[in-house]
Amino acid sequence: MLARLDAVRVRPVAAAAAHVPVRPGWQCAGCGEPWPCQVRRDRLLSEYAQNRAALGVYLGLHLADASSDLRREPAGDLYARFLGWLRPT
Ligand SMILES: [Zn+2]
Repeated sequence: MLARLDAVRVRPVAAAAAHVPVRPGWQCAGCGEPWPCQVRRDRLLSEYAQNRAALGVYLGLHLADASSDLRREPAGDLYARFLGWLRPT
């Protein structure tokens, strides 16, 4: 019950502002670029600055979902798009 009350108080961020992926094409809702777009990548890097391993897991889960939606995309291209831009710290 408490969790439900808290959830009501949280104002949802508009999809466009959040730069979230639109399935099944995996374009960004905010800018139309292939997700994760540059804006989202920058935000993820700052959100996960203290936990890059968790960012890798987060992106890996999205890669798995995208792989099932984008079956015609070469796996190497999808990997580069979702995980290849991450630099080791
Ligand atoms: Zn975007």
